[in-house]
Amino acid sequence: ATGGNGDAIGDGPDELTLLAERHLVQPWPVSGSIGAEARGRLEAGEGIYVTDAAGRRLIDGPAGMWCVNAGHRRQELADVMAAQAMELSYNSPWYTTNAPSAVLSKRLADHAPDGLDHVFYTTGGSSAVETALRFMQFANNVKGRPDKKLIVSRQGGYHGSTYLSASLNGRPRDHDWMDSAEGLVIKLTCPNPFRRPEGVGEAEFCDALVAEFRDVIEKVGAGRIGAFIAEPIMASGGVIVPPEGYLVRMRELCREHDILFIADEVVTAFGRLGHVFASQEVFGLDPDMITFAKGVTSGYFPLGGVMIAGRLFEELRRSNHSDAMFAHGLTYSSHPIGCAVALKNLDILEGGLLDHARDVSGHFQSSLKALEDLPLVGEVRGLGLMACVECVADRVSNNPLTLDLEVGKRIDTHCQELGLLVRPLINMCVMSPPLTISKSQIDDMATILRRGIELTTDDLVREGLW
Ligand code: PMP
Repeated sequence: ATGGNGDAIGDGPDELTLLAERHLVQPWPVSGSIGAEARGRLEAGEGIYVTDAAGRRLIDGPAGMWCVNAGHRRQELADVMAAQAMELSYNSPWYTTNAPSAVLSKRLADHAPDGLDHVFYTTGGSSAVETALRFMQFANNVKGRPDKKLIVSRQGGYHGSTYLSASLNGRPRDHDWMDSAEGLVIKLTCPNPFRRPEGVGEAEFCDALVAEFRDVIEKVGAGRIGAFIAEPIMASGGVIVPPEGYLVRMRELCREHDILFIADEVVTAFGRLGHVFASQEVFGLDPDMITFAKGVTSGYFPLGGVMIAGRLFEELRRSNHSDAMFAHGLTYSSHPIGCAVALKNLDILEGGLLDHARDVSGHFQSSLKALEDLPLVGEVRGLGLMACVECVADRVSNNPLTLDLEVGKRIDTHCQELGLLVRPLINMCVMSPPLTISKSQIDDMATILRRGIELTTDDLVREGLW
C-alpha cells in the first residue's frame, strides 16, 4: 500500500517509483531495463544539497549535470521566472521578439571574446551544437563551397544527443548500438595527457596532436573541412584538460585553412572555470562560435545558444544569394522566461559568484588531488570547479579498469549512503558542485569521497576483482 502522496507504507517500491517504472523512459537506458526502470528520486534541493526520497540530505557533487551553478532553491531565480510568466510567457521568435532576449544578447556579447557579438538561442546544448553546425553548412552553401562540410571532433568528446551532435561524440560505448552521420565526421586523438604514449613528454604529445590535425587537413583537403569542434576541457569524457597551448595551436590551424573553430562551452561557461566564458579568459582562445547551455540558467530553465562572430554574418550579407534562407529555428528560440532567468543568473554570477568560484577553486582542486594517495586512484585532474577522479587497475601501469566493473557506480552508491551524490562515469567520478560551495563544504565532500573510494576498494578486494 502507498500513501496518496507517493510515500511508501511498508516494504516495496512506493507509488511514484512504480509510476516511473511503468511509464517513464529515462535517458541513456540499457535495453535490459528500457522503459521499466526507476532511478533514485530526488525530492528537494537547497544550496549545494539535495534531498532524496528516503529523506537523505546529499551534497550535489555534480550540480545536477554540471548545471546548477548558482545552487538550488534561489528565491530570486524563482521570482524572475514567475514575474516573466505573468508579463509575457511566450512569443513566437518567427514573427516577434522580446525584451529579455535582446538585453541578454548584449550582456553575453560583452562577456564573449571580441567579435562574438551575436547569439542564436536554443533549448539546450545539443540543439546549440546542432545550430552551430547547420550554420556552418548553410554558410558554406551560400559561399559557393558546398564540399566544405566535414566536421572534425575528438575521441573522448561529448557534444549531445541529437543525430548530428551525437555523431561527433567519441566516448567508449557512444556508438556501439547507435547510428551516426557516417562520412561527415573525422575524429582526432583525445588530448588526454594521462593517456599519452609512454615515454612521450607533454609538449611532445601536444606537437603530435597538432601534427595529426595538420596531416588530416593535408590528406582530406581544407576545401572539404568546414569546422573543428572542441570542448575546451572535455567534460563527460572525464574532465580532460588538454596540454598547454593545444587549443590555441589548433585554432591557428583552423584560421590558416578557413575552418570554423567551435568552442563547445556547454559545461565550461557560466562560472565553472571562474568566468562567464572560459575560451579567452582561461585559454587565450578566440573561437568563431561558442556553444553554451546548462549554467546559463543554472539549470532552472532549459536554455542554450550559440555565440556567433558578426563577421560571419557580414560575409553572408555580401554574398550573391540575398534570398538564401537559413531554414533553422526552434519554437522556443529566445524564450522570454529562459532569457529572463539567464539575466538574473548573470546578475548573481557578476555580483560575486564568479569571484567566489575563483577563490575556492584552488582548495577544491587540492582537496581532491589529495585522493591520489589511495591505491585505486590513478589520477585526479581538473580545473576551476570541475574535477575527475580516475580509478585504475594498478598504479604502476595505470591501465584502465575493465568497463564492466563500473567502479564509479560503486563509489557513488557508498557515497550516497554517506551524504554525497557523485557523477559516476564508468571508472571515474566527476565532481562539479554548485559554485556556491564553501571551503568547509569542499572538505566534507572530499572526506566522503575518500571514504566511498576506500569502501569500494574493500569490496573489490573481497570480491576478488582487484
Ligand atoms: N556539449 C557538451 C560539452 C555537453 O557536456 C553536453 C551535455 N552534457 C551537451 C553538449 C549537450 O547538451 P544537452 O544535454 O543540454 O543537449
